[in-house]
Amino acid sequence: MSEFIIGKGIVVTLGKKNRIIHDGAVYIKNDKIVDVGKTEKLVLKYKKCKFIDASGKIIMPGMICTHHHLYSTMARGMCPLGEPAANFVQILERLWWKLDYALTDDDVYYSAIMPYIECIRNGTTTIIDHHASPSCRDGSLDIIENAARKAGIRSCLCYEVSDRNFQGAGIAENVRFIKKCKKNKDPMISAMFGLHASFTCSTKTLDKCVAENENFGAGFHIHVAEDLADRKDSMKKYKMPTVTRLLKHGIGGEKSLFVHCIHINDTEMAQLAESGTTVVHNPESNMNNAVGVSKVLDMMNKGILVGLGTDGMTSNMFLQMRVAYLLQRLDKKDPRVAFSEAPQLLLWNNPKIAMKHFPVKLGEISKDAVADVILVDYDPITPFNADNFLGHFIFGLYDAKVDTTICNGKILMQNKKLCKLDSAALAAKTTELAKKMWKRLE
Ligand SMILES: [Zn+2]
Repeated sequence: MSEFIIGKGIVVTLGKKNRIIHDGAVYIKNDKIVDVGKTEKLVLKYKKCKFIDASGKIIMPGMICTHHHLYSTMARGMCPLGEPAANFVQILERLWWKLDYALTDDDVYYSAIMPYIECIRNGTTTIIDHHASPSCRDGSLDIIENAARKAGIRSCLCYEVSDRNFQGAGIAENVRFIKKCKKNKDPMISAMFGLHASFTCSTKTLDKCVAENENFGAGFHIHVAEDLADRKDSMKKYKMPTVTRLLKHGIGGEKSLFVHCIHINDTEMAQLAESGTTVVHNPESNMNNAVGVSKVLDMMNKGILVGLGTDGMTSNMFLQMRVAYLLQRLDKKDPRVAFSEAPQLLLWNNPKIAMKHFPVKLGEISKDAVADVILVDYDPITPFNADNFLGHFIFGLYDAKVDTTICNGKILMQNKKLCKLDSAALAAKTTELAKKMWKRLE
């Protein structure tokens, strides 16, 4: 049994009613938060317990990323292949579809473990990943699961089905992994049913995915209208826009994630709201690919649940929230907007989304929530309370250093030192593999 108190910090509870507790403490027993309150009170109550001093730090829930691509790791620093891509489809064809095809079993493992280390360093304790590795497709989700367990990060995994290598490639891998997760009921590992995008999935493939998923009821995880090309493809082939097409085939619903949703109209927004389908916004990726700005505020106003992901660009959710804030303001040309909405995506919506896929209470410091807790270096230079927390979050905490990361009650990093993983050795091995992988692409 493991139990400890983290105290003398400023507790930010988040959850339904965000409370700020100065000189606050959290009592953790095994994988759960058992008690929250003033340090003095908790130390008296749980006398012989190990104590972690969080002076000068914020004690808050771990961050959640609702759209990640661990497999993208080895693209970092890679020389562009051929002529620079001039549009989104060329980015896929010249970079991502070549890279994912070149990945071996080892590449998949090391491509996962390195961003998991970045998750730990940035206080991200839960991710929803979207994976592709056509040359080692079957069993690839088990390899990522191994990396997730080694790192200790809560992970929901899926394989992106598409017709680009053969029709319905990846369906069997999703089905196999969903079955396994349903059987194991492990709160650390879960599964969704992945699809790449509307324009890479035929009607036959969509229908097969829905039929295969019928007994499981896993949510679908798919890129939607990320670029205008996806919308044009759907209009041309099926005479209807992307969201309409996917919903018509049963891909949406309460558990499904429609990632991006940039090139959609008001009717599609209404359909998303009505079907209860979740949207995930990835501002850095959208800016990097120059595909446009998602109408996040309009979608939220229409009652759509919108979360925040990184699309594999980074594992730092604090920065992603800050970029979402800035981008929405610029897009609306209105300095009154996004102040509450950008943090809402990350701090309140992402836990809601993740809890559809993990059977635990996430995203808050409260009794019975899982002990996914981070300590962040922060000495407020102005008053710090529940009323002005978002101001501190957007303008101060967004680039504060994460000192300690705890997931499911396990301490993964303390005093900025990883507890279980040898980052330098893993990075050296990953570099060696990346060199070989890049050679195969030449
Ligand atoms: Zn993506």
